[in-house]
Amino acid sequence: MQNLLLLLKEISFNLYWSWNKDAIELFNEINPDFWNWSGHNPVKFMNEINHNYLLDAIDRKNLGGKILTIYKDFKKYLDKDKYFGEKYYKTDEPQIAYFSAEYGLTECLKIYSGGLGVLSGDHLKSSSDLGLPLMGVGLAYHYGFFVQMINSNGWQTENYEINEFQNLPLNLLRDDNFNPVRLEINFPGSTVFVQVWVLLIGNIKLYLLDTTLPENTVEDRRITDILYGGDTEKRISQEIILGIGGIRLIEKLGFDIKAFHLNEGHSAFLCFERIKNYMTKNKVSYEEAKAACYNSNIFTTHTPVPAGIDIFTHDLFVKYFRKYAEEEIGVSVEHLFLEGDLTKDQIDNDKFNMAYLAINNSNFINGVSKLHGEVSRKMWMLSDNKSRIESITNGVHTPSYLSANSNSVYCRYFTKDWIYDENIWNRIDEIADEDIWAMRIFNKHSLIEFCRESIKSKWILSGADKIKLAEVKGILSPEALTIGFARRFATYKRGNLIFRDLDRLKKIIKNTSMPVQFVFSGKAHPKDEGGKTLIAEIISYSQDEDLKNKIIFLDNYDINVARHLVEGCDLWLNNPRRPLEASGTSGMKVIANGGLNFSILDGWWDEGYSPELGWKINSVMDENISLEQRDSMEAASLYDTLENEIIPMFYLRDSKGMPVQWIKKIKASIKQLAPFFNTGRMVKEYCDRFYMKVK
Ligand SMILES: *Cc1c(COP(=O)(O)O)cnc(C)c1O
Repeated sequence: MQNLLLLLKEISFNLYWSWNKDAIELFNEINPDFWNWSGHNPVKFMNEINHNYLLDAIDRKNLGGKILTIYKDFKKYLDKDKYFGEKYYKTDEPQIAYFSAEYGLTECLKIYSGGLGVLSGDHLKSSSDLGLPLMGVGLAYHYGFFVQMINSNGWQTENYEINEFQNLPLNLLRDDNFNPVRLEINFPGSTVFVQVWVLLIGNIKLYLLDTTLPENTVEDRRITDILYGGDTEKRISQEIILGIGGIRLIEKLGFDIKAFHLNEGHSAFLCFERIKNYMTKNKVSYEEAKAACYNSNIFTTHTPVPAGIDIFTHDLFVKYFRKYAEEEIGVSVEHLFLEGDLTKDQIDNDKFNMAYLAINNSNFINGVSKLHGEVSRKMWMLSDNKSRIESITNGVHTPSYLSANSNSVYCRYFTKDWIYDENIWNRIDEIADEDIWAMRIFNKHSLIEFCRESIKSKWILSGADKIKLAEVKGILSPEALTIGFARRFATYKRGNLIFRDLDRLKKIIKNTSMPVQFVFSGKAHPKDEGGKTLIAEIISYSQDEDLKNKIIFLDNYDINVARHLVEGCDLWLNNPRRPLEASGTSGMKVIANGGLNFSILDGWWDEGYSPELGWKINSVMDENISLEQRDSMEAASLYDTLENEIIPMFYLRDSKGMPVQWIKKIKASIKQLAPFFNTGRMVKEYCDRFYMKVK
């Protein structure tokens, strides 16, 4: 029995559990309340649970066999032959280093804010599935992105929860003598010491850098305290730790890395450190070293707007890089400063642009959808060769966003390991329509249950009485067409577009013979008053007598809320202003759960859409039309399609009560979209087109 606890502990220390439905179910089965209390965190669960209770529960509920099976599956997963080993070569040492400022891996590890982080997390998970010799580098933030609470006025408030490192699957990196590894980086006026935490994601190691050390000044300890908080000075400090610290870590570990992947520009200072190392090792000039390193840097850009990029002033740059340039590299600081200028003509001579630093130093550059590739080529107007920016369309790690119920349906028809078979979706037609529909109904029921519980616990906190609490049963209906809209509340994403013509929306929602309901969720940046106003507006609509219980807003959009939403919604709505959505990935998460997409043809949907598998909202891209007019025209297209096509199709039932046309669309959507819009395909593309092309 004690042995079972050791196995459980080992499972809890590898994020493999986060996409293994049996493992999640196991913790839930031991004690659901305790599992929820832990924040879906197996390490905290194991650390804090009374071990006699745990042993007793395993015994009473007869879970020993399950634990052994999960452990065996886990070991089999780690050891089995995978894509990279079969296609390229076998190696135990990392060959590719992936750098990102945030990683969204699971809800209890709050080192992500949104889409960029979730993508990095999914990149690591799929790299593990494919056996890539890849290591991740990031920062170990002590406070994650904020927890959102909407107050009684509908206004977003932010609460920062601490990441309890002792209750997370983090191991301090130690050297052969068991001493904690320390990196050192010179800052103006001090030397900053860095320690390193290691996180396991299947076969992949993610190294997280942390400056919270007693030997650092109080100020320096705070460098890695929080994700995307503070001023530009904090930002430049964090990016120095990530980029320069990351390369020092690789040197210290003695890895021979062949390809360096910069996921967004935050890590681009690594280019300097690589040049410096190359100069020292090979006794060559700055330019020669730069040319050599250039070949093995890969830069992925995620934003189609210049405002989304980190920019530092000349003064700030000089403050942090003068000594580094002169004493460590042996060039002038102005020489380094020019790397942050794309044209090198110093037109904008007060700005150091991190994306430009990355572009100037990367042989491979890509956008994250075909359309975004085009937009980036225009935005940066690269003079040397305009086709240099390519595109690799984003994906999602399907197992991480698949409901346990959807998984069990697929397991029943396919095999237990179906998820690792990339051709599996060709077999979707084998599944009976009845089972697809039953899967949908079950998924939707659990979403509604989740929404009711979430709202109920909020009401309890605000002191609601029994009569009020009984009202939760009236929230949402399992029969109604359920539309999800969840994303960051940035203006271009137009979270309130659906409310553009309130009378028309009310007519749709109040139609009792064909009911429609909406679930909203999303955070606004703490400093974005406009975004917060949008949220308040939606909250106030959700309290309107005609819309109450049919439009709801879920607090704190995070990976947990996202998973429930993409599992349960019938339809996923996305209506950004084209072409500002670089890719978008949430819509991809509904596919394997049987949800359908309804979006502007932007980002991934621009290439994924086809009439037999989803719907589009017509978008107006005409410079002579004002934004106001454009929003009205696009909203009209949205209502038209909802009223004339989507709602009638959902409610068109056969004699058995089945929406035959709708189910046909679900199957077409899964068959055509699921094999492509996933990070397995995406990581293979990075591997075959970029990583393994490095000379
Ligand atoms: C998937 C996901 C995102 C990204 O979705 P978009 O469609 O790009 O907006 C953001 N936040 C969370 C929590 C997610 O799970």
